[in-house]
Amino acid sequence: MKQYDVLAMFSGGLDSILAAKSVAAQGLAVLGLHFTSPFFGHPDKIAGWSADYGLDIEAVDVGPEYVAMMDARPLHGVGKGLNPCVDCKILMLARCRELLGVYGAKFIVTGEVKGQRPMSQRRDALDIISRDAGVRDVLLRPLCAKTMKPTPMEESGLVDRERLHAFGGRTRKPQFRLARELGITKFPQPAGGCKLTEFESAKRYVPVFMHARPATDADFHLANVGRQFWAGAHWMAMGRNREDNETLARLARPGDRLLDVMGFPSPLGLVRALPGVDWNDAALSDAAALLASYAPKAAASGEPVQVLARLVTDAGATGAGSPGETMPWPDGEDRVLTVAPSRATRLGLADVDWEALIPVKKAMFGESQEDDGY
Ligand code: SF4
Repeated sequence: MKQYDVLAMFSGGLDSILAAKSVAAQGLAVLGLHFTSPFFGHPDKIAGWSADYGLDIEAVDVGPEYVAMMDARPLHGVGKGLNPCVDCKILMLARCRELLGVYGAKFIVTGEVKGQRPMSQRRDALDIISRDAGVRDVLLRPLCAKTMKPTPMEESGLVDRERLHAFGGRTRKPQFRLARELGITKFPQPAGGCKLTEFESAKRYVPVFMHARPATDADFHLANVGRQFWAGAHWMAMGRNREDNETLARLARPGDRLLDVMGFPSPLGLVRALPGVDWNDAALSDAAALLASYAPKAAASGEPVQVLARLVTDAGATGAGSPGETMPWPDGEDRVLTVAPSRATRLGLADVDWEALIPVKKAMFGESQEDDGY
Protein backbone atom coordinates (compact mmCIF):
# COMPACT_ATOMS: atom_id res chain seq x y z
CA MET A 1 0.00 0.00 0.00
CA LYS A 2 1.49 3.33 -1.04
CA GLN A 3 1.91 5.65 1.94
CA TYR A 4 0.89 9.31 2.13
CA ASP A 5 1.22 12.22 4.55
CA VAL A 6 -2.30 13.54 4.11
CA LEU A 7 -5.77 12.24 3.22
CA ALA A 8 -7.89 14.86 1.45
CA MET A 9 -11.65 14.59 1.19
CA PHE A 10 -12.07 15.02 -2.55
CA SER A 11 -15.53 15.68 -3.97
CA GLY A 12 -14.20 16.96 -7.28
CA GLY A 13 -15.45 20.49 -6.53
CA LEU A 14 -13.06 23.43 -6.66
CA ASP A 15 -12.71 23.80 -2.88
CA SER A 16 -11.68 20.18 -2.45
CA ILE A 17 -9.09 20.57 -5.21
CA LEU A 18 -7.69 23.75 -3.67
CA ALA A 19 -7.48 22.20 -0.20
CA ALA A 20 -5.58 19.18 -1.49
CA LYS A 21 -3.28 21.26 -3.70
CA SER A 22 -2.58 23.77 -0.90
CA VAL A 23 -0.98 21.12 1.27
CA ALA A 24 0.62 19.32 -1.67
CA ALA A 25 2.31 22.66 -2.46
CA GLN A 26 4.04 22.37 0.94
CA GLY A 27 5.75 19.17 -0.20
CA LEU A 28 3.36 16.75 1.50
CA ALA A 29 2.18 13.57 -0.24
CA VAL A 30 -1.60 13.80 -0.59
CA LEU A 31 -4.15 11.11 -1.37
CA GLY A 32 -7.62 12.30 -2.37
CA LEU A 33 -10.49 10.17 -1.11
CA HIS A 34 -13.62 10.35 -3.25
CA PHE A 35 -16.65 9.04 -1.38
CA THR A 36 -19.35 7.15 -3.23
CA SER A 37 -22.80 5.81 -2.35
CA PRO A 38 -26.12 5.41 -4.19
CA PHE A 39 -26.63 9.12 -3.54
CA PHE A 40 -23.38 10.76 -4.66
CA GLY A 41 -20.01 10.11 -6.19
CA HIS A 42 -18.46 9.96 -9.64
CA PRO A 43 -15.84 7.21 -9.60
CA ASP A 44 -15.82 7.35 -13.41
CA LYS A 45 -14.23 10.83 -13.19
CA ILE A 46 -11.33 9.89 -10.93
CA ALA A 47 -8.84 9.16 -13.71
CA GLY A 48 -9.56 12.53 -15.34
CA TRP A 49 -9.26 14.42 -12.05
CA SER A 50 -5.95 12.69 -11.29
CA ALA A 51 -4.58 13.72 -14.67
CA ASP A 52 -5.92 17.27 -14.48
CA TYR A 53 -4.80 18.04 -10.93
CA GLY A 54 -1.78 15.78 -10.49
CA LEU A 55 -3.24 14.01 -7.45
CA ASP A 56 -3.61 10.38 -6.49
CA ILE A 57 -7.32 9.78 -5.82
CA GLU A 58 -9.17 6.68 -4.66
CA ALA A 59 -12.86 5.91 -4.42
CA VAL A 60 -14.25 4.97 -1.01
CA ASP A 61 -17.70 3.34 -1.01
CA VAL A 62 -19.63 4.37 2.10
CA GLY A 63 -23.00 3.17 0.76
CA PRO A 64 -23.88 0.56 3.42
CA GLU A 65 -22.94 2.70 6.42
CA TYR A 66 -24.54 5.78 4.85
CA VAL A 67 -27.85 3.98 4.36
CA ALA A 68 -27.65 2.71 7.95
CA MET A 69 -27.09 6.30 9.16
CA MET A 70 -30.11 7.52 7.19
CA ASP A 71 -32.22 4.58 8.33
CA ALA A 72 -31.41 5.41 11.95
CA ARG A 73 -32.38 9.07 11.20
CA PRO A 74 -29.55 11.61 11.01
CA LEU A 75 -28.98 13.24 14.40
CA HIS A 76 -28.57 16.72 12.92
CA GLY A 77 -31.53 16.56 10.56
CA VAL A 78 -31.92 16.94 6.83
CA GLY A 79 -32.28 19.90 4.48
CA LYS A 80 -35.05 20.63 2.01
CA GLY A 81 -34.50 17.31 0.29
CA LEU A 82 -33.16 14.35 2.25
CA ASN A 83 -29.61 15.72 2.55
CA PRO A 84 -28.15 15.20 6.06
CA CYS A 85 -25.14 17.43 5.37
CA VAL A 86 -23.80 17.60 8.94
CA ASP A 87 -24.12 13.85 9.60
CA CYS A 88 -22.77 13.19 6.11
CA LYS A 89 -19.57 15.10 6.82
CA ILE A 90 -19.25 13.41 10.21
CA LEU A 91 -19.55 9.98 8.60
CA MET A 92 -17.02 10.73 5.88
CA LEU A 93 -14.51 12.29 8.27
CA ALA A 94 -14.85 9.37 10.66
CA ARG A 95 -14.06 7.05 7.75
CA CYS A 96 -11.05 9.22 6.85
CA ARG A 97 -9.81 8.87 10.42
CA GLU A 98 -10.05 5.07 10.14
CA LEU A 99 -8.09 5.18 6.90
CA LEU A 100 -5.22 7.30 8.26
CA GLY A 101 -3.44 4.21 9.55
CA VAL A 102 -4.01 2.28 6.33
CA TYR A 103 -2.10 4.90 4.35
CA GLY A 104 0.33 5.93 7.07
CA ALA A 105 -1.11 9.43 6.86
CA LYS A 106 -0.83 11.95 9.68
CA PHE A 107 -3.82 14.19 9.08
CA ILE A 108 -6.92 14.97 7.03
CA VAL A 109 -7.80 18.03 4.97
CA THR A 110 -11.17 19.25 3.68
CA GLY A 111 -12.19 22.15 1.48
CA GLU A 112 -14.67 23.50 4.02
CA VAL A 113 -14.87 27.28 4.38
CA LYS A 114 -16.42 28.83 7.46
CA GLY A 115 -19.68 30.57 6.59
CA GLN A 116 -19.79 29.39 3.00
CA ARG A 117 -22.81 27.13 3.43
CA PRO A 118 -25.52 27.67 6.04
CA MET A 119 -26.13 24.04 7.03
CA SER A 120 -22.77 22.32 7.33
CA GLN A 121 -20.27 25.20 7.24
CA ARG A 122 -21.59 27.43 10.00
CA ARG A 123 -19.02 27.96 12.73
CA ASP A 124 -20.94 25.79 15.19
CA ALA A 125 -21.57 23.11 12.56
CA LEU A 126 -17.85 22.91 11.76
CA ASP A 127 -17.16 22.42 15.48
CA ILE A 128 -19.84 19.73 15.80
CA ILE A 129 -18.56 17.93 12.73
CA SER A 130 -14.94 17.77 13.89
CA ARG A 131 -16.01 16.82 17.44
CA ASP A 132 -18.49 14.09 16.48
CA ALA A 133 -16.22 12.62 13.82
CA GLY A 134 -13.45 12.43 16.42
CA VAL A 135 -10.97 14.27 14.20
CA ARG A 136 -10.28 17.49 16.10
CA ASP A 137 -6.61 16.64 16.51
CA VAL A 138 -6.06 15.56 12.91
CA LEU A 139 -8.31 17.81 10.82
CA LEU A 140 -6.98 20.80 8.88
CA ARG A 141 -9.19 23.06 6.79
CA PRO A 142 -6.55 24.81 4.68
CA LEU A 143 -8.90 27.31 3.04
CA CYS A 144 -10.05 28.87 6.32
CA ALA A 145 -7.29 27.69 8.70
CA LYS A 146 -6.11 31.22 9.48
CA THR A 147 -9.57 32.17 10.77
CA MET A 148 -9.42 29.32 13.28
CA LYS A 149 -7.18 28.30 16.17
CA PRO A 150 -3.92 26.67 15.03
CA THR A 151 -4.17 22.89 14.73
CA PRO A 152 -1.56 20.46 16.08
CA MET A 153 -0.28 20.09 12.50
CA GLU A 154 0.45 23.81 12.34
CA GLU A 155 1.84 24.00 15.89
CA SER A 156 4.27 21.14 15.25
CA GLY A 157 5.50 22.72 12.02
CA LEU A 158 4.24 19.84 9.87
CA VAL A 159 2.29 22.48 7.97
CA ASP A 160 3.29 26.12 7.52
CA ARG A 161 0.29 28.11 8.79
CA GLU A 162 1.53 31.19 6.93
CA ARG A 163 0.93 29.44 3.63
CA LEU A 164 -2.66 28.53 4.52
CA HIS A 165 -5.67 30.76 3.93
CA ALA A 166 -8.30 32.88 5.67
CA PHE A 167 -11.26 32.49 3.33
CA GLY A 168 -14.71 33.00 4.81
CA GLY A 169 -18.28 33.66 3.82
CA ARG A 170 -19.98 33.08 0.54
CA THR A 171 -17.71 34.94 -1.89
CA ARG A 172 -15.81 32.74 -4.32
CA LYS A 173 -13.27 35.35 -5.45
CA PRO A 174 -10.44 34.15 -3.14
CA GLN A 175 -10.88 30.61 -4.45
CA PHE A 176 -10.49 31.75 -8.06
CA ARG A 177 -7.41 33.78 -7.13
CA LEU A 178 -5.84 30.79 -5.33
CA ALA A 179 -6.63 28.53 -8.29
CA ARG A 180 -4.64 30.87 -10.51
CA GLU A 181 -1.74 30.93 -8.02
CA LEU A 182 -1.69 27.13 -7.87
CA GLY A 183 -1.65 26.92 -11.67
CA ILE A 184 -5.10 25.34 -11.88
CA THR A 185 -6.34 26.20 -15.33
CA LYS A 186 -8.94 23.49 -15.74
CA PHE A 187 -11.89 24.24 -13.51
CA PRO A 188 -14.07 21.30 -12.61
CA GLN A 189 -17.32 20.96 -14.52
CA PRO A 190 -20.37 20.65 -12.29
CA ALA A 191 -20.44 16.87 -11.96
CA GLY A 192 -24.07 16.42 -11.00
CA GLY A 193 -24.54 16.98 -7.32
CA CYS A 194 -25.79 14.96 -4.43
CA LYS A 195 -29.06 13.24 -5.27
CA LEU A 196 -30.26 13.64 -1.68
CA THR A 197 -30.67 17.37 -2.36
CA GLU A 198 -32.82 16.82 -5.46
CA PHE A 199 -36.57 16.43 -4.97
CA GLU A 200 -36.78 14.22 -8.06
CA SER A 201 -34.44 11.73 -6.40
CA ALA A 202 -35.58 12.30 -2.82
CA LYS A 203 -39.11 11.25 -3.76
CA ARG A 204 -37.70 7.93 -4.93
CA TYR A 205 -36.00 7.36 -1.58
CA VAL A 206 -38.75 8.17 0.94
CA PRO A 207 -40.83 5.05 0.15
CA VAL A 208 -37.71 2.91 0.43
CA PHE A 209 -37.03 4.27 3.91
CA MET A 210 -40.71 3.68 4.76
CA HIS A 211 -41.02 0.11 3.54
CA ALA A 212 -37.62 -1.56 3.25
CA ARG A 213 -36.79 -2.53 6.81
CA PRO A 214 -33.87 -2.42 6.91
CA ALA A 215 -33.09 -0.55 3.71
CA THR A 216 -29.88 -1.52 1.92
CA ASP A 217 -27.68 0.42 -0.46
CA ALA A 218 -28.79 -2.04 -3.18
CA ASP A 219 -32.37 -0.81 -2.67
CA PHE A 220 -31.29 2.77 -3.34
CA HIS A 221 -29.33 1.81 -6.43
CA LEU A 222 -32.61 0.32 -7.65
CA ALA A 223 -34.56 3.44 -6.65
CA ASN A 224 -32.27 5.49 -8.93
CA VAL A 225 -33.33 3.59 -12.07
CA GLY A 226 -36.15 4.31 -14.51
CA ARG A 227 -39.75 4.76 -13.40
CA GLN A 228 -40.75 3.88 -9.85
CA PHE A 229 -44.16 2.59 -8.82
CA TRP A 230 -45.42 1.90 -5.32
CA ALA A 231 -48.61 0.59 -3.73
CA GLY A 232 -48.02 0.42 0.02
CA ALA A 233 -44.91 -1.72 0.31
CA HIS A 234 -45.32 -3.26 -3.17
CA TRP A 235 -42.54 -1.83 -5.32
CA MET A 236 -41.87 -2.08 -9.04
CA ALA A 237 -39.12 -0.33 -11.02
CA MET A 238 -39.50 -0.06 -14.78
CA GLY A 239 -36.87 0.78 -17.40
CA ARG A 240 -37.27 3.83 -19.63
CA ASN A 241 -34.64 2.78 -22.14
CA ARG A 242 -32.25 0.00 -22.93
CA GLU A 243 -29.63 1.22 -20.45
CA ASP A 244 -32.22 1.19 -17.64
CA ASN A 245 -33.33 -2.30 -18.63
CA GLU A 246 -29.77 -3.60 -18.51
CA THR A 247 -29.23 -1.94 -15.14
CA LEU A 248 -32.40 -3.53 -13.76
CA ALA A 249 -31.37 -6.99 -14.97
CA ARG A 250 -28.02 -6.43 -13.22
CA LEU A 251 -29.60 -5.23 -9.96
CA ALA A 252 -32.07 -8.12 -9.63
CA ARG A 253 -31.43 -10.31 -6.61
CA PRO A 254 -32.87 -13.63 -5.50
CA GLY A 255 -36.57 -13.36 -4.72
CA ASP A 256 -37.10 -10.45 -7.13
CA ARG A 257 -39.13 -10.92 -10.29
CA LEU A 258 -38.21 -9.62 -13.71
CA LEU A 259 -41.15 -8.94 -16.01
CA ASP A 260 -41.14 -8.61 -19.80
CA VAL A 261 -44.02 -8.44 -22.28
CA MET A 262 -43.73 -11.33 -24.73
CA GLY A 263 -43.99 -10.71 -28.46
CA PHE A 264 -43.78 -6.89 -28.21
CA PRO A 265 -41.01 -4.38 -27.55
CA SER A 266 -41.29 -3.75 -23.83
CA PRO A 267 -39.63 -2.04 -20.91
CA LEU A 268 -38.25 -4.38 -18.28
CA GLY A 269 -40.00 -4.44 -14.92
CA LEU A 270 -38.33 -5.41 -11.67
CA VAL A 271 -40.56 -6.30 -8.75
CA ARG A 272 -38.57 -6.08 -5.53
CA ALA A 273 -39.14 -8.73 -2.91
CA LEU A 274 -39.12 -6.60 0.23
CA PRO A 275 -39.31 -8.64 3.43
CA GLY A 276 -42.89 -9.44 4.43
CA VAL A 277 -44.45 -8.25 1.16
CA ASP A 278 -46.68 -10.80 -0.56
CA TRP A 279 -46.46 -10.66 -4.33
CA ASN A 280 -49.36 -13.05 -4.87
CA ASP A 281 -50.82 -13.84 -8.29
CA ALA A 282 -53.20 -10.88 -8.23
CA ALA A 283 -50.46 -8.41 -7.28
CA LEU A 284 -48.09 -9.83 -9.88
CA SER A 285 -50.77 -9.63 -12.57
CA ASP A 286 -51.33 -5.98 -11.67
CA ALA A 287 -47.62 -5.26 -12.10
CA ALA A 288 -47.66 -7.13 -15.42
CA ALA A 289 -50.70 -5.16 -16.64
CA LEU A 290 -49.01 -1.89 -15.73
CA LEU A 291 -45.81 -2.92 -17.48
CA ALA A 292 -47.75 -3.88 -20.62
CA SER A 293 -49.42 -0.46 -20.65
CA TYR A 294 -45.93 1.05 -21.13
CA ALA A 295 -45.26 -1.22 -24.14
CA PRO A 296 -47.01 0.91 -26.82
CA LYS A 297 -47.63 -1.84 -29.37
CA ALA A 298 -48.90 -4.23 -26.71
CA ALA A 299 -51.21 -1.55 -25.32
CA ALA A 300 -52.45 -0.67 -28.82
CA SER A 301 -53.19 -4.28 -29.71
CA GLY A 302 -56.46 -4.13 -27.77
CA GLU A 303 -55.92 -7.78 -26.79
CA PRO A 304 -54.71 -9.46 -23.61
CA VAL A 305 -50.95 -10.02 -23.78
CA GLN A 306 -48.55 -12.48 -22.22
CA VAL A 307 -45.96 -11.29 -19.73
CA LEU A 308 -42.99 -13.42 -18.75
CA ALA A 309 -42.29 -13.29 -15.02
CA ARG A 310 -38.97 -14.73 -13.89
CA LEU A 311 -38.48 -15.37 -10.20
CA VAL A 312 -34.76 -14.75 -9.77
CA THR A 313 -33.03 -17.61 -8.01
CA ASP A 314 -29.39 -16.89 -8.74
CA ALA A 315 -28.43 -13.27 -9.35
CA GLY A 316 -24.83 -14.21 -10.15
CA ALA A 317 -25.71 -16.53 -13.02
CA THR A 318 -26.86 -15.02 -16.29
CA GLY A 319 -29.16 -17.10 -18.40
CA ALA A 320 -29.94 -16.81 -22.07
CA GLY A 321 -32.27 -13.82 -21.72
CA SER A 322 -35.97 -13.53 -22.12
CA PRO A 323 -37.82 -13.82 -25.41
CA GLY A 324 -37.20 -10.65 -27.42
CA GLU A 325 -34.26 -9.56 -25.29
CA THR A 326 -30.60 -10.07 -26.04
CA MET A 327 -29.33 -8.88 -22.67
CA PRO A 328 -28.44 -11.55 -20.14
CA TRP A 329 -30.92 -12.16 -17.34
CA PRO A 330 -30.17 -13.77 -14.03
CA ASP A 331 -31.26 -17.38 -13.75
CA GLY A 332 -34.66 -18.18 -12.31
CA GLU A 333 -38.01 -19.86 -12.60
CA ASP A 334 -40.30 -18.62 -15.37
CA ARG A 335 -44.04 -18.38 -15.59
CA VAL A 336 -46.33 -16.63 -18.04
CA LEU A 337 -49.14 -14.26 -17.03
CA THR A 338 -51.94 -13.24 -19.37
CA VAL A 339 -53.11 -9.67 -18.68
CA ALA A 340 -54.91 -6.72 -20.26
CA PRO A 341 -52.57 -3.69 -20.40
CA SER A 342 -53.77 -1.14 -17.85
CA ARG A 343 -52.46 1.85 -15.91
CA ALA A 344 -55.22 1.57 -13.32
CA THR A 345 -54.30 -1.43 -11.20
CA ARG A 346 -56.38 -2.91 -8.36
CA LEU A 347 -53.27 -2.74 -6.22
CA GLY A 348 -52.92 0.98 -6.95
CA LEU A 349 -49.32 0.92 -8.21
CA ALA A 350 -48.52 4.56 -8.95
CA ASP A 351 -45.71 7.04 -9.41
CA VAL A 352 -44.85 8.89 -6.21
CA ASP A 353 -45.37 12.62 -5.82
CA TRP A 354 -42.88 14.68 -3.79
CA GLU A 355 -45.50 17.15 -2.53
CA ALA A 356 -47.56 14.27 -1.14
CA LEU A 357 -44.45 12.84 0.53
CA ILE A 358 -43.41 16.04 2.35
CA PRO A 359 -45.49 15.27 5.49
CA VAL A 360 -44.09 11.73 5.47
CA LYS A 361 -40.55 13.08 5.19
CA LYS A 362 -41.24 15.45 8.08
CA ALA A 363 -42.59 12.62 10.24
CA MET A 364 -39.56 10.48 9.46
CA PHE A 365 -36.72 13.01 9.41
CA GLY A 366 -38.11 16.08 11.22
CA GLU A 367 -38.45 19.69 10.04
CA SER A 368 -36.14 20.69 7.19
CA GLN A 369 -32.97 22.39 8.43
CA GLU A 370 -31.64 25.48 6.76
CA ASP A 371 -30.20 24.08 3.58
CA ASP A 372 -26.71 24.36 2.18
CA GLY A 373 -28.36 25.77 -0.95
CA TYR A 374 -27.21 23.20 -3.48
S1 SF4 B 1 -24.96 17.74 -0.28
FE1 SF4 B 1 -24.86 17.32 1.92
S2 SF4 B 1 -25.56 15.20 2.11
FE2 SF4 B 1 -25.00 15.49 -0.04
S3 SF4 B 1 -22.84 14.84 -0.21
FE3 SF4 B 1 -22.84 17.06 0.17
S4 SF4 B 1 -22.66 17.24 2.40
FE4 SF4 B 1 -23.30 15.14 1.95
